[in-house]
Amino acid sequence: MRTHAQAVVIGGGLIGCSILYHLAKQGWKDVVLFERDELTSGSTWHAAANIHGLHDVTNISRLQHYTMALYKELEKETGQGCGIFQPGSLYLAQTEAREHQLRLQEAKARRYDMNFYQVDRAEAERLHPLVDFDGIRCIMYEPEGGNVDPSGVTAAYAAGARQRGAEIHRFTAVTGTEQRPDGSWTVRTTKGDVHAEWVVNAAGLWAREVAALAGLELPLIPTEHQYFVTETIPEIAGMGWRLPSVADRDGEYYLRQEGLGLLIGAYERSMKFWAEDGTPKDFGHELFPDDLERIEENMLRAIARVPAVGRAGVKKVINGPMIWSPDSAALFGPIPELRNYFCCAGIIPGFSQSGGLGRLAAEWMIEGEPTLDMFGWDLARFGHWAGKAFTKARVRDQYSHRFKIHFPNEERAAGRPVRTRPAYALQKDMGGVFGLNFGWEHPLWFALDGEPREETVGFTRQNWWHPVGREALMLREKVGVIDISNFAKYEVKGGGAEAWLNALFANKMPSRIGRSCLTPLIGKRGGIAGDFTVTRLGQDEFRMFGSGMAERYHQRFFRMVPLPAGTTFRSVTNDICGFNVAGPKSRDLLQRLTNDDLTTPSFPFMSSRRITVAGVDVIALRVSFTGDLGWELYCEEKDQVRLYTTLIDAARQEGGGPVGSRALLSLRVEKGYGSWGREYSPEYWPQEVKLDRLIKLEKGAFLNRDAYVGIADKPARDELIMIAIEAKNADASGGEPIFLPDGTPVGQVTSGAYGYSVGMSLALGYVKAGTAKSGDALTVAILGRPHPAVLLERPPFDPDGHRLRA
Ligand SMILES: Cc1cc2nc3c(=O)[nH]c(=O)nc-3n(C[C@H](O)[C@H](O)[C@H](O)COP(=O)(O)OP(=O)(O)OC[C@H]3O[C@@H](n4cnc5c(N)ncnc54)[C@H](O)[C@@H]3O)c2cc1C
Repeated sequence: MRTHAQAVVIGGGLIGCSILYHLAKQGWKDVVLFERDELTSGSTWHAAANIHGLHDVTNISRLQHYTMALYKELEKETGQGCGIFQPGSLYLAQTEAREHQLRLQEAKARRYDMNFYQVDRAEAERLHPLVDFDGIRCIMYEPEGGNVDPSGVTAAYAAGARQRGAEIHRFTAVTGTEQRPDGSWTVRTTKGDVHAEWVVNAAGLWAREVAALAGLELPLIPTEHQYFVTETIPEIAGMGWRLPSVADRDGEYYLRQEGLGLLIGAYERSMKFWAEDGTPKDFGHELFPDDLERIEENMLRAIARVPAVGRAGVKKVINGPMIWSPDSAALFGPIPELRNYFCCAGIIPGFSQSGGLGRLAAEWMIEGEPTLDMFGWDLARFGHWAGKAFTKARVRDQYSHRFKIHFPNEERAAGRPVRTRPAYALQKDMGGVFGLNFGWEHPLWFALDGEPREETVGFTRQNWWHPVGREALMLREKVGVIDISNFAKYEVKGGGAEAWLNALFANKMPSRIGRSCLTPLIGKRGGIAGDFTVTRLGQDEFRMFGSGMAERYHQRFFRMVPLPAGTTFRSVTNDICGFNVAGPKSRDLLQRLTNDDLTTPSFPFMSSRRITVAGVDVIALRVSFTGDLGWELYCEEKDQVRLYTTLIDAARQEGGGPVGSRALLSLRVEKGYGSWGREYSPEYWPQEVKLDRLIKLEKGAFLNRDAYVGIADKPARDELIMIAIEAKNADASGGEPIFLPDGTPVGQVTSGAYGYSVGMSLALGYVKAGTAKSGDALTVAILGRPHPAVLLERPPFDPDGHRLRA
């Protein structure tokens, strides 16, 4: 057994074996996997192992397609059968919303050259004669859908890894992971120790226990999950071909052929947790007792759709455990607070995603960053706030609504609130409707008396559309107060503060006290890893402001640049609250509450200083993400209610009032401002997102400067554009494909919103460089249907920035 390895993978399930395979394939030969039992001994061996290519999130579709194609390659490469059946999958829509979802996916498939298209009822009946298509309003077909053999696939990954020099030790449990002073790891096993550069936690059902060996807690909880297989169905026995699988998500079950019968699985409402306090160490190839009663409602819907199920007897029932994260996406990536500890756990559709996750995990460890933006899967999207109660409540909601559509802008209530500010109760009383941002409750909009406080959800404009418009217009015409406490806030102090910030960020830090700058953070491949506002409050004192949801994600980058001696860096997000007071009357409002001179000569755009507003000490920055005249005011949390109350009273006297963050989305889109996680991501180069003007190569070294230099002279692959769309009852929200009028796909929307003050349905997005110019006609697939659009030369609101600088 090796005593040294570049990486030790813990867990020989589907995922661990895929990661091992990809590490070896991408060049790390010195890699070892430990499996406490036989390979596949967790969730893997008993899975239904259905595979699908399409997912609502584009990058997940990409990695699912990679996975599906890989299985065939693996078979060829290793000679190990993967038991691949690809008779296709039929996707059924019973409701209008489901039809919108499927049509949108079909448009995305055209954009990304994936095979997914509509079939008519006659064709669907030919493909699957046992399905009763009554009441189905739209049917899509994915020819590559199907299923694989769980043990075959896992064994093929293992064989492929071994062929490339990787070692696999079965019946060898990892009993300890201890970090050495140099950051490398001692991995203790029942057969001896290994010194490793990287530890990979792929322990599936036991990921929590393995994490605990390194002092980590992961927000995961297992549930039971059942499917059953029928006895032979005579019609199937008499058929000469294999039936496609059926995704009847409105019916809340999945169904496919297994042998000469059918396999039906369900995510039932009355779901059942398992091993909440820890997965038993000695749990092996075991299943739970059958409990078909629990999935009876789902079964009845399956029988109504495929009557042959009801006529056949049940041959076997599988009731096994699977482990979930709070949003049912994987917990993926290096732990930000530890050096070289990678985690890949909580994967629900493992057989659709194993290859892609393995490939991206290997890229991340070997090259320092995955080639696809994985923020939605990055474990850094959760923090300590995602505790046990939150995880349990969210998992219950995720499991029991597994096939429910995730609508744009939807905010699920389960497990909330977890983190609130002192003004929460007050904002609730004011009619606040809240969203969740990195655990924080933040107001999305405010309902007036008599207006509903529950949001409706859907792909079309919902009940919040008019109230949000009212707020956006109020701010543009008068003044609005937006709670921005959920922004990430950091303090950098000491003699080396400026040097450290210059070594971290790509822009040159302000040399004058009271000045601010916008700066990109550059990723390992030269893309945009973040965008920040930095302001200099004193000779040795700076504040940084960034995306709240990326706070933990950005820690990885901050830790890459050592702090000079005597310099401190800390997050003050928890201690500090913020308000954005913006709109043409914002100066009048604030000037009544402070003795500081707020006129432009004294307080110009992009300047900052400490002032007192209504007796509260604040740091004031003259910036506003609304694109309007405005200030961001940051106060201590204890002063939040006092400051808020005063600001709201004063705003009301000016004809303004509270504004939520959904109006902020509309306002920044009107102004063409990009946002982290939407327009800005490591996948895009600075010259593509138009942030290259903020990169100062002449200042010397900064994080990933070489990576940027390597791509700086390359022509943009994509261009960030702004479009106005002819939309009547639904706006773009992000992800919708963009086409030329002849149907050629050229790009996709990143953010969309109605621009209330300009009277246009707007979107920001990317198109392939050189494919469209200002004034050109395009179409955008909203609700999956082409909507005419035009490429705008300039943002429709205040393109010259007069309001900002007024
Ligand atoms: C009933 C059911 C049906 C399913 N159907 C599908 C489906 O149709 N399609 C689909 O894509 N997915 C399906 N899944 C989900 C799928 O099974 C999982 O996504 C996948 O198996 C997860 O694999 P894993 O490698 O992450 O975890 P696991 O399979 O749990 O593997 C973890 C491994 O780590 C090992 N291990 C743990 N602790 C240690 C230690 N200390 N030292 C060494 N080794 C250790 C374990 O023994 C185990 O072998 C289904 C799941 C269930 C329960």
